[in-house]
Amino acid sequence: MKEACGVFGVYAPGRQVAQLTFDGLYALQHRGQESAGMAVSDGETITVVKDMGLVATVFDERTLSGLIGHLAIGHTRYSTHGSSDWTNAQPAYRPVGRAGFALGHNGNLTETDVLVERAGMLPGMTVSDSDVVAGLLASAFPGSAGDPETGELAGVLEAVVPELVGAFSFVLMDATHLYGVRDPNGFRPLCLGRLGPADRPEGWVLASESPALDVIGATLVRELVPGEMVVIGPGGVRSVRLFSTDEVDDRLCIFEFVYFARPDTRLHGIEVHGARRRMGELLARQAPVDADMVMAVPESGVPAAEGYAKESGIPYGQGLVKNRYIGRTFIDPDHQARVSAVRRKLNPLRDNIESKRLVVVDDSIVRSTTIRSVVAMLREAGAAEVHLRVSSPPFAWPCFYGIDTPTREELLAANMSIAEMERYLGADSLAYITLDNLKAAIGPPEAGYCDACLTGEYPVKVPLTLEVAPAPPGRTGGVLQGALPGV
Ligand code: 5GP
Ligand code: SF4
Ligand code: MG
Repeated sequence: MKEACGVFGVYAPGRQVAQLTFDGLYALQHRGQESAGMAVSDGETITVVKDMGLVATVFDERTLSGLIGHLAIGHTRYSTHGSSDWTNAQPAYRPVGRAGFALGHNGNLTETDVLVERAGMLPGMTVSDSDVVAGLLASAFPGSAGDPETGELAGVLEAVVPELVGAFSFVLMDATHLYGVRDPNGFRPLCLGRLGPADRPEGWVLASESPALDVIGATLVRELVPGEMVVIGPGGVRSVRLFSTDEVDDRLCIFEFVYFARPDTRLHGIEVHGARRRMGELLARQAPVDADMVMAVPESGVPAAEGYAKESGIPYGQGLVKNRYIGRTFIDPDHQARVSAVRRKLNPLRDNIESKRLVVVDDSIVRSTTIRSVVAMLREAGAAEVHLRVSSPPFAWPCFYGIDTPTREELLAANMSIAEMERYLGADSLAYITLDNLKAAIGPPEAGYCDACLTGEYPVKVPLTLEVAPAPPGRTGGVLQGALPGV
């Protein structure tokens, strides 16, 4: 089970933490649309409410007003594999210690099998890797009674987290404290915010992305550093490093910048929207073309298309209208369903397109369902030429760190050369941004990224033997041999 989710947590005595968590989760809805949940503590009891569906469907006024406490965590889940039912919705809760604890996870562990055994769970009994972590933490509880001053979970986390391998940004809570944990590679984002003024804080907030702080009037303090745990309670915020310096290697997912994060999010101190615009600018310099209009595949292609237009001097225009009531088309399991979903989602603006030479910018091509349908639609609507420009390099390797990707067989760039793709997509030209330009567009130069889906260089061991043969002539990646379990 892989998860690419949104997590949120708030410690704020005297405030309506359930309402704050609702607002924070609403701002993180794009990270997970399958289920939503929150856990609230009043110091004695933890109450968990979770269900399938969007944040606004799961929680109404009545539910929220019944959730009283000073401390809460929340989760939006975007399951990418296996069953998607209520039992997998988060937060996960375990009734151990004084009042139990709750956990929300964004990421994907890569060595779940070993951990299942260690947690004393039966293989096949567990449903998600987040469940395995909850089990491991619960089984470590009796040995460490915990101190109500520092929080019950702190010692347990210090003992258990260093054994975990893979991608994880966790928010956790026991009855009295809020905890945030980021894996030593920092694959998934997690930031700390403050309610109230710096000299008189009224509360503390954890969130996958900074807009979740903005919407509740919190100030971004900083991003957690890879391998860091923060413990938040009556005494304020305490920071603990759970890994030694040689285990820490900053590898924030580069796709957070390309696609996944909101444009108004700050990552590595950079606003994502500006990075996406610069990707378009560098792409225009790298792969110029004579054309009449630059357009985006909405929504995610818009900032890069604006950047391309600015740099090239070609006017920016809208060529497609997006039905904003349709969510993700990407994760539909069968091809035909994905194709019709794209048609339902995007419709051409004929008068804007007819007889024009178009530059069409999108953030990524994965299976190519989206861009292939888009090219066909634009041609039907009378486009004279269609030049595709992509603001990420060819996506040729599956992700094992918390983002849904199909098997290598389904990844377009793993199976075709650029010239073959151009023909297959029906485009007049096709160009991808180079990895160097992508990194230059993001900056800062000293920051580290994961780019495994673009390069095949996995920073953390993945759950299969990667026997990489040399790339066949004209192909972008090597050939991955062997089955891909769990992808
Ligand atoms: P494709 O249609 O080629 O399989 O997927 C690429 C399109 O799906 C792009 O328009 C991108 O914005 C969107 N997309 C939706 N979810 C994801 C995701 O998790 N990763 C990536 N790379 N693209 C996604
Ligand atoms: Fe992100 Fe790609 Fe790395 Fe997965 S493999 S964490 S999508 S950069
Ligand atoms: Mg898109």
